[in-house]
Amino acid sequence: MIKAIKGFNDILPDQSAKWLHLEAILADVLGRYGYEHIRLPIVEQTDLFARAIGGATDIVEKEMYSFTDKSEPPTPLALRPEGTAGAVRAVIEHNLLRGDTPKLWYIGPMFRYERPQKGRYRQFHQLGVESFGSALPDADAELIAMTHLMWQELGLKDEMHLQLNSLGELDERHAYREALVAYLTDKQDQLDDDSKRRLTTNPLRILDSKEASTQAVLVDAPKLADFLGAESVAHFEQVQAYLTDLGISFEINPHLVRGLDYYNKTVFEWVTDKLGSQATVCAGGRYDGLIGQLKSIGGRDDKDDKKPVKSEPAVGFAMGLERLLLLMEAVAPIADVPACDVFVVAHPDVYSAGIGYAQNLRYSRADLRIKMASATSLKAQMKKADKSGAALTVIIAQQELDDHTISIKDMQTGEQKTVMQDWLLSKENFSRR
Ligand code: ATP
Ligand code: MG
Repeated sequence: MIKAIKGFNDILPDQSAKWLHLEAILADVLGRYGYEHIRLPIVEQTDLFARAIGGATDIVEKEMYSFTDKSEPPTPLALRPEGTAGAVRAVIEHNLLRGDTPKLWYIGPMFRYERPQKGRYRQFHQLGVESFGSALPDADAELIAMTHLMWQELGLKDEMHLQLNSLGELDERHAYREALVAYLTDKQDQLDDDSKRRLTTNPLRILDSKEASTQAVLVDAPKLADFLGAESVAHFEQVQAYLTDLGISFEINPHLVRGLDYYNKTVFEWVTDKLGSQATVCAGGRYDGLIGQLKSIGGRDDKDDKKPVKSEPAVGFAMGLERLLLLMEAVAPIADVPACDVFVVAHPDVYSAGIGYAQNLRYSRADLRIKMASATSLKAQMKKADKSGAALTVIIAQQELDDHTISIKDMQTGEQKTVMQDWLLSKENFSRR
């Protein structure tokens, strides 16, 4: 038997109803904020991710599914490990930023070669949201406020804790990086192996090391906050002020650096203590430099255009849907919704009349889920009706047809009676639980 690939999961009917429920709530909240939906390819040029995410990140170093297709010359391609790079590519390519400030969302599978475990898979799903064109802190606060409403609507508001930090601007971060490297180089032998390696590749990531020995060394290390310029500080304070005014509580985590290179200024994570080490459910931040950076390497060049591009700033986040569902399952389980309200059973001799009845009912009662079984014996069909979870079974045989009636069976009480054929057309007689 050929089986699915490790870390790539089937989502079976007993789970898929929950996915649809979750996605509907998220889409609804996004709509209430006026965000628009965009659908993006799953495969992009590897180079897009390498340039956008950064060469010394976990994703690009070791997690990408990349390959070449059959084109000549062969182009390195990758299954997308995240959505922001593709979204930025698309808005540049289609000129969506010209004179506009699009607020976009997308949902779908992402791929990373990681060690599969609870809450961590090789194909997983994200909701991604990107707000383009505003450099002001209200854009950051709006995204966070929107996620706050999502937790409320999902029954998770008590489970989610907001952590904030500011990474400042690139030059500020560079100055900090030098100071951090200078400080840590002397104490190299006290660092864990990963952090030692990162000292030359991606030193900021050392800050979020989980090793106690490394964290001990960091206690007296230079602080990123001390390297922020006045503008970065003011921006960060205004984000906090907006959140405070909205009644959204948060914690400043000076070690929150995020794994991707493109962030500047605000970064944030929503974490929970209910999912073990897969604690981050939603993460994001500002990335004012990414659009310009990708434009300069082969996005559409707007130099010749008469209308200048107004602004390049952007802020966004991504939410892991598997982790959200695990959390919902742990704290506020979504009730199983039966796939069927009314089961129509028809004697094989008059089965066509049964199909006609069910079809007519579906036209007139859009609120009901109506199922039939194939034209086997009445007894076999009744068995299926029992298993279906339906609240009501309609039985049609020759007698019912002659009398223009139907027999109905209340599946809860087992009580059976005969009523006129149009009985179910009225919501007053029967409606969904
Ligand atoms: P982690 O630190 O857990 O590896 P990350 O920083 O790599 O997360 P992001 O790239 O910020 O994650 O992605 C945003 C969200 O997507 C995460 O907070 C998480 O909810 C989800 N996510 C990331 N990787 C996976 C994965 N392999 N399986 C399931 N969900 C994931
Ligand atoms: Mg990761």
